Amino acid sequence: MGHEGSGSLESLRERNRRRVLSALRVAGITSRAELARRTGLSRTTVSSLIGDLVRDGLVAERVDHTAAPGAQGGRPPVLVSLDRRAGAAVGVDFGKSHVTVAVADLGHTVLSEMRRALPSDHRAEEGLEAAGDLVEAALPGPVHANTGTVGSTSILPGWVGVAAAREMSDRLNLPVRVDNDANLGALAEHVWGAGEGVADMIYLKLATGIGAGLVLGGRLYVGAGGTAGEIGHTIIDEHGPVCRCANRGCLETLASGAATVELLRPTLGTDLTLGHVVELTLDGHPAATRVVADAGRHIGRAVANLVNLLNPSRIVVGGELAACGDVLLDPLRQECQRHAISSAGDDVEIHHGPLGDRAQVLGALALVLQDAETFSTPVDHLVEVQA
Ligand SMILES: [Zn+2]
Repeated sequence: MGHEGSGSLESLRERNRRRVLSALRVAGITSRAELARRTGLSRTTVSSLIGDLVRDGLVAERVDHTAAPGAQGGRPPVLVSLDRRAGAAVGVDFGKSHVTVAVADLGHTVLSEMRRALPSDHRAEEGLEAAGDLVEAALPGPVHANTGTVGSTSILPGWVGVAAAREMSDRLNLPVRVDNDANLGALAEHVWGAGEGVADMIYLKLATGIGAGLVLGGRLYVGAGGTAGEIGHTIIDEHGPVCRCANRGCLETLASGAATVELLRPTLGTDLTLGHVVELTLDGHPAATRVVADAGRHIGRAVANLVNLLNPSRIVVGGELAACGDVLLDPLRQECQRHAISSAGDDVEIHHGPLGDRAQVLGALALVLQDAETFSTPVDHLVEVQA
């Protein structure tokens, strides 16, 4: 690799081969023409490289039966994806009271999903152990696996300061990457859900807390230190309640799932949960409906600022509170329209996220599938063995 002179043609071909493999990881199932577009290589070069990769067992071909047959009865187009033998991706979602694991092949097909309940005050050790068991159960064979420490404002108190990526990597002997629930939800909705094919989209996770994941120009945007999207800490009322971030009157103190539950507990009972609030809202309970609609309005104001700054074309709303549907979304949309500048407000559509509580674990899969650099080991290894 990298030799000059007579070896340079060979290394150019090897570099192009890696470009095609990387593009396939990100694209999932795609056409030769789309690969040519994504890699900037000619269609002839792509076809020749794909021919080699199919012979080496790294790429599989499949007929696209969904495409309309040609006018002359021509054959349906043939699509390509990474072969199952090229490796697998594992997604793990650590929630407050559950851990979920999903496995996908490198062609973006989800092969299995498993969930285990955990006590809501569980320690990191318990969560990691359960995830390790589930990964071993979900994976058809051995697989291979960077950094990630759970921050101080985490909703997982038993996990603060734990280097989750390293711990998980040690247990599985695989490279691991960690990201937060809002970023993962954004990736999942971008790859498989309501943001599919949308280059500029924002995912709002409305649950116990409030977070946003930003996909800009087709890529997840995490900022300089990885904290971009903390819309829950937008100041709405500077004289409001003190937030867990130590500021006052953050959006989260007024409109999070936890805040709506607290507002309703004096009248509906101290054992009220967010799940109950969603059920009562869907049943048309007047106080629950009122509190959820008010939350939607507060969130809509914060979203209007985000829309003015980033001009997204779609906002996908997920998280447990999103299950309240239009009781939450209609006031959110109205307030966003009212406070955003009109052109930015006209460009954006606000949708409910169809992936629901699967969004985080699927997002973890998408993170691995789109990160060709960190996770290229199995494919590179196979390339070298078979060369
Ligand atoms: Zn705050």
